Amino acid sequence: MNNPSQHICPVCGSSHFEIFFEMLEMPIFCNVLWPEKKDAQNCDKGDIKLAFCSSCGFIGNVAFDPSLLDYTQAYENSLDFSPRFQNYSQSLAERLIETHNLQNQDIIEIGCGKGEFLVSLCELGNNRGVGFDPTYVPLPEHEKVKDKTTFIQDYYSDKYADYASDFICCRHTLEHIPQPNTLLANLRKAIGNRHNTAIFFEVPNALDTFQNMAIWDIIYEHCCYFAPVCLSHAFASNGFQVQKTSEEFRNQFLCLEAVPGESNREMDEQQISDLQQLTQDIQTFGSRFANKVEAWQTKLEYITSQDQRTVVWGAGSKGVTFLNLLKNRNQIEFIVDLNPRKQGMYVAGTGQRIVAPDFLRDYQPELILIMNPVYEEEIRQMTADMGLSAEFLCV
Ligand SMILES: [Zn+2]
Repeated sequence: MNNPSQHICPVCGSSHFEIFFEMLEMPIFCNVLWPEKKDAQNCDKGDIKLAFCSSCGFIGNVAFDPSLLDYTQAYENSLDFSPRFQNYSQSLAERLIETHNLQNQDIIEIGCGKGEFLVSLCELGNNRGVGFDPTYVPLPEHEKVKDKTTFIQDYYSDKYADYASDFICCRHTLEHIPQPNTLLANLRKAIGNRHNTAIFFEVPNALDTFQNMAIWDIIYEHCCYFAPVCLSHAFASNGFQVQKTSEEFRNQFLCLEAVPGESNREMDEQQISDLQQLTQDIQTFGSRFANKVEAWQTKLEYITSQDQRTVVWGAGSKGVTFLNLLKNRNQIEFIVDLNPRKQGMYVAGTGQRIVAPDFLRDYQPELILIMNPVYEEEIRQMTADMGLSAEFLCV
């Protein structure tokens, strides 16, 4: 008998896929820009019900409804305005070019966003690139590489299987796809017998979210969360030989490199032990999450009682989730972001205005809440250069 409440893991097909955590009524899109405060506050909401697969370690939102999401050009999740992130992307591009000998080669990027990374790969290695993304917007700075790059404003799918390439990369996209196996199987089919085609995938690292408690990374747009053990399993079971996984960017990102080929689908001892650890972390996650949110409620209550002028720095997913989860947020009217395409817009769900760092010269905040500790140094430097004397708290 089929149990209607039973869920099936989309990665390994196991029925040991059970809900362990709920976060209801969250904005459907953290990364859509709202020019009007009212519209931002009244944005569409959806439920997050995370299930964990104890067979492969996959975590997914079983309440996810893909029909609610329509990625358009108003979707803006570029991180490339931060020098820290730019350095990371640049050194990643250099490393991939060296490791995979990417000189004068054909490269595909699936989910290329606004195209920054693909342009880097093409410029640095004199490569030719094709980028797929429905949110791509032609940018004037891409004019200079237009003989080397093509951008297709669409999702990558099997209809593009004719685009042959030596290297395929896909950053921060797989976690948005409810059936990741479909993308991986299509990709493997498209590669066919070109066995030298290397692939590189980067996703948010579920270990950072569910072990290290980077809880503000849980968003509706991410229907999938991958720990290394599960990501490797997903590729191995779709005809890839995984060569390497690594945790990067202060363990916030998980990277995988693979080539087409057979690999052992059985977990090795290390993977079995990693899966056991993750299973334990998932069991305690709900209470650790509640404690962290509660501690922040208390802090914000104190800040409000002291009438401290407070801004949040970082209007990406973390900032949006943080503000939406906390009830005592009224002390916070503004959120700073380096991305000029976000400035002047409003935060989904809560309606804070997104401002440029320069705004702080007049506003003179007493406290700056840093959403991502990875940017702490550059934020401290920038605000010191402006002569601000605010306190800082990493969220
Ligand atoms: Zn599974």
